[in-house]
Amino acid sequence: MLPYAIFGIHNSAINLAVELVILFLVVIWLAMVYWTYADARRRIADPLLIGCATAASLFPYVGTIVYMIVRPPEYLDDVRERELEMQGAEARLAELGYHLCPHCDYEVEKDFLRCPNCMRKLKDPCHSCGRPLDPAWKVCPFCEAEIGTAAPSPRRQRRRRETTSEPAAEQPSTT
Ligand SMILES: [Zn+2]
Ligand SMILES: [Zn+2]
Repeated sequence: MLPYAIFGIHNSAINLAVELVILFLVVIWLAMVYWTYADARRRIADPLLIGCATAASLFPYVGTIVYMIVRPPEYLDDVRERELEMQGAEARLAELGYHLCPHCDYEVEKDFLRCPNCMRKLKDPCHSCGRPLDPAWKVCPFCEAEIGTAAPSPRRQRRRRETTSEPAAEQPSTT
């Protein structure tokens, strides 16, 4: 009876150890699924992609490892913060009178009408006082002239009579 009892004790100890290991692995796996979900939420904006990452992590261990390889490198908060910092820096530069061409990022002055680098139009001159106007303005802040609609400038009578080829100048060739 004794060997059998010893064997039985031994067997149940192994069973217990195996069960503990399995329990441990399951707990680790569940923790990894949760970690993947939490990490994906901090890095990915699209809820569908967060769901995909979490679903992939349900595949034990390998899913989470694959997620760690392909996940976005930055946290969303960091991206947002950096964008805010860049906007703030641009605003500070604009306050200092440092302007960039919106087309080619060449440094231009505030009252430039045309970018000296890419030759594109930056601002229109006021038809009345000639100062540079922002395209968003509806009235010239310098001389109060309305922009676009009412043009108080005298009508330019561009009567260009196109009198190019007069029939009198016709010279038929005589052969
Ligand atoms: Zn430019
Ligand atoms: Zn004006």
